[in-house]
Amino acid sequence: MTVLQLALPTPLRRLFDYLPPADLGSEQLASLAPGQRLRVPFGRRELVGVLVAVRDGSDLPAEQLKPALALLDSAPVLAPDILRLCHWAADYYQHPVGEVFAAALPRHLRLGKARETGSIKAWQLSLRGKGLPAGALARSPKQAQALAALQGAAAVSAADLQQAGISTAVLRALQDKGLIERCLMAPAQHSASARAGLTLNEDQAAALGNIAKSGHGFACHLLEGVTGSGKTEVYLQLIAQCLQRARQALVLVPEIGLGPQTLARFAARFDAEIVVLHSGLAEGQRYRDWEAAAAGRAQIVIGTRSAIFTPLARLGLVVVDEEHDASYKQQDGFRYSARDLAVKRAQLADCPVVLGSATPSLESLHNALEGRYQHHRLPRRAGSAQLPALQALDVRHLPLEASLSEPLAARIEATLGSGQQVLLFLNRRGFAPSLQCHDCGWVAECNACDARLTVHLRQRRLRCHHCEASRPLPRACPECHSHQLLTSGVGTEQAEAHLRERFARWPVHRVDSDSMSNKGAMQTLSEEVNRGQPCILLGTQMLTKGHHFPGVTLVAVLDADGLLFSADFRGEERMAQLLTQVAGRAGRADNPGTVILQTHHPDHPALQSLLQLSYAEQARQLLQQRRELGLPPSGHLLMLRTDATNAEAGEQFLATLRQAFERAPVAQCQLIGPLPSPMPRRQGRYRSQLLVLAQVRPAARAAACRLVSLAEGLPRNSGLNWSIDVDPSET
Ligand code: ADP
Ligand code: ZN
Ligand code: ZN
Repeated sequence: MTVLQLALPTPLRRLFDYLPPADLGSEQLASLAPGQRLRVPFGRRELVGVLVAVRDGSDLPAEQLKPALALLDSAPVLAPDILRLCHWAADYYQHPVGEVFAAALPRHLRLGKARETGSIKAWQLSLRGKGLPAGALARSPKQAQALAALQGAAAVSAADLQQAGISTAVLRALQDKGLIERCLMAPAQHSASARAGLTLNEDQAAALGNIAKSGHGFACHLLEGVTGSGKTEVYLQLIAQCLQRARQALVLVPEIGLGPQTLARFAARFDAEIVVLHSGLAEGQRYRDWEAAAAGRAQIVIGTRSAIFTPLARLGLVVVDEEHDASYKQQDGFRYSARDLAVKRAQLADCPVVLGSATPSLESLHNALEGRYQHHRLPRRAGSAQLPALQALDVRHLPLEASLSEPLAARIEATLGSGQQVLLFLNRRGFAPSLQCHDCGWVAECNACDARLTVHLRQRRLRCHHCEASRPLPRACPECHSHQLLTSGVGTEQAEAHLRERFARWPVHRVDSDSMSNKGAMQTLSEEVNRGQPCILLGTQMLTKGHHFPGVTLVAVLDADGLLFSADFRGEERMAQLLTQVAGRAGRADNPGTVILQTHHPDHPALQSLLQLSYAEQARQLLQQRRELGLPPSGHLLMLRTDATNAEAGEQFLATLRQAFERAPVAQCQLIGPLPSPMPRRQGRYRSQLLVLAQVRPAARAAACRLVSLAEGLPRNSGLNWSIDVDPSET
């Protein structure tokens, strides 16, 4: 009995057995291969599953097996290396395997639609046509011309024939004589070429040379290069070498880093088919690009996180730019790290992977220092530009206007006055982070979250930044009807208003997700700024990614304190990365510029190490601390999270889980919790968590397996969800 084992998109952590579809011929049955899709009955629904294995029998009695409804593909839609990547990820992240497969498929295929490989309608000679003696059609010159056109090639596309002036009527006439027939041909595959790159400096040349020297097989490289050191130039030249070997390159970029600047640089360098996969694409386009990558036609595939699952017929190189970036981690559902999967992917494809960053994650740095990754450093900026210097500005006792102290305002004025540009960083959008009643103390809070509402003055609304909730800005206090409503704290909208007033002679550009929501807004702005006229750029995190502003010579962080105090053990690492990235946007050869950090805590140790050490030195110190505490990357974390409509249900569930786990504990594992999550209520749901810290990777893996199987066996109230997060990025 032939049994098909399928991965189905359900939350169940198992595979499902089906019989082959009733109408399947023996030839089709014999050629079934993992990666083909089938439509199957599932309860009262129909699902599209992916074939994982063909077996000779099932653990279930035969009468319980249902036949699949239809085989949807004549060949696998997922290549063997993607299948293996999915199995590995399902196991490593302890996520339901069917959902992993679903995440790897484009929506078009997930929905069970027919594959569109982009084949082109064409004509070819029939067997009879091929055997025709020369000059046979002398009396009909048009048919002879058509025949001649088909004689040199295996097939010629209908479009090309039309171009050559051969009409459909002529082709039909030949078809009627049995001399030619219709066929499909694969779209043309163009060869790729690269224009000459820049002449590399010594560090770049060494990095490129050493990466190339380690061969075309699997190797993991960390390219640690300060901002502007020319990492991208190294990627481009590695990609050129990869294309020369007729292989494809896969380049991952962070979500907001996918700037038009990056794309323009690739397009200018390569004469090749480049596809860009990101969530903003129309579904049809995204699917066509996916097929072009799978078929090997697209030579360069650039994409955000989920692009790591794109099949590439001839993968030869994987690049992860800004590898420390938080957007590589999927934060809900299937919680994977695209950076970590990129390493696995390269291993399965037996090709090199390059992780690049000015501020490498401690995980990657750890691997490099332990010798698992090859480490290449670019300690200097390309060209002769210097990195700007960092200074703390003690704002205690200084009057602040919209977060701006007078000494800073004077520096801004002087910079603008001398024709240069200023970049101000404030990681909080909106007008003010909270609204309070001066008479009774009422504070505007979200009804669904444990969070204050942000004042958006221009929209005249209060908005929650943790859920979609929003309401009109009240004119009076809902408790005491007082009109004395005061905002506290400063967001970008307020800072912008103040800057416009104070520096009225110069343009002020605000860069945050509110002001940059229009497509192309960021590109227009960056072109405008890079024309070089003096101006002020004011923005959030958005300003720190993928953009260079060489005309900026003064950078200021308006509220460095907001970054200093974080409950997360990664807080200091993140702060150092963020500030180094902000600082790195600025400066050019003749004027490297200055970075000023406004703070009330000039002596805070984290701030001090930021001022005194390079990121590279600071990261090594942090790594030492993590080692002493047994925290990642020395130790390994897992997090079980719950969310429920009931305030106690989650912690009860996790407490029971912990008890069950401790009846046969896994060695070298420490459990912490259950505890309420850092923001206990969000979107109306109460959240709690149980953390596991394991000293070694195998212990983490064993604990993950056991916790998941225990959790699956526990009864739970309706309305309670649980999930596991392996290597959580937020604790
Ligand atoms: P990164 O990716 O490290 O931030 P980029 O590759 O974007 O650095 O390079 C920063 C700037 O230096 C760019 O304007 C780039 O054109 C220039 N650059 C890079 N490498 C060289 C080089 N070898 N010679 C001259 N300019 C270079
Ligand atoms: Zn009041
Ligand atoms: Zn909310």
